[in-house]
Amino acid sequence: TGAVPDVLPDWLTGGRRVVALTGAGISTESGIPDYRGPNGVWTRDPDAEKLVTLSYYVSDPDIRRRAWRMRRDLRVGDIAPNAGHRALADLERQGRLRALLTQNIDGLHQRAGSSPDVVLELHGTIHEVECLSCGDRTTMDSAMERVDAGDPDPACLVCGGILKSATISFGQMLDPEVIGAAAEAAADCDVFLAVGTSLTVHPAAGLTDLAAGAGARIVVVNAEPTPYDDIVDLVVREPIGTALPRLLSGGS
Ligand code: NAD
Repeated sequence: TGAVPDVLPDWLTGGRRVVALTGAGISTESGIPDYRGPNGVWTRDPDAEKLVTLSYYVSDPDIRRRAWRMRRDLRVGDIAPNAGHRALADLERQGRLRALLTQNIDGLHQRAGSSPDVVLELHGTIHEVECLSCGDRTTMDSAMERVDAGDPDPACLVCGGILKSATISFGQMLDPEVIGAAAEAAADCDVFLAVGTSLTVHPAAGLTDLAAGAGARIVVVNAEPTPYDDIVDLVVREPIGTALPRLLSGGS
């Protein structure tokens, strides 16, 4: 039915080595739109996919200017973690969360109290920028200061190369160490929670297969169907901010 069950299964309340995989859906209630949901950035403007595709970003200065403008828009307003992020931070405090694998780049898990040791940012972070030529890394704040001061496409201050947020665009490899550690955690958990993700972006979505193959119970918390719903033990379609705290309560 998609509702949080009145009585939670023992395997869930008794989970001791839980691994969570989160996606853009856990942050929509904080005011950050997802990509593929009904109000998603790409649902409204299919062209926006170019902003996160490396070949377009490198070859088209106009795409880069749009990308920086979008970053600036995201900083406006009060973006704060929500009850979904906090439920996972609580689970860690109970000593039951082995790893928090996130496709998000917004840093909201850490701001909700999840420790950096537990969070693996599969797709990088929006809080840093990286030079595509020399690899020099600086803070997003310092780059945005230059954008705000009138430079619509700030170049690397070390070598003049193209600067990009330290996020994984289509056409870029994931950090092998990060995805390796994520795979190890997924293959060694008793409960695997996929939260707010359409489970369509690989290799992140494939972590679900690793967990299932290793015998973990699988829970999907997502408003829309995912390609994995048929193989999972529990599907919840209620909004994450109310569903996740209830699903993760009652642990002992
Ligand atoms: P997605 O956009 O493909 O899917 C998000 C899913 O969450 C959708 O299926 C939607 O139905 C569901 N959802 C949205 N709000 C929900 C809510 N309140 N309750 C329940 N379900 C809800 O996102 P994805 O699978 O994470 O993959 C997209 C890629 O986009 C990732 O690579 C990620 O890096 C990037 N992204 C990140 C952010 C962010 O950091 N906050 C935002 C947008 C996109």
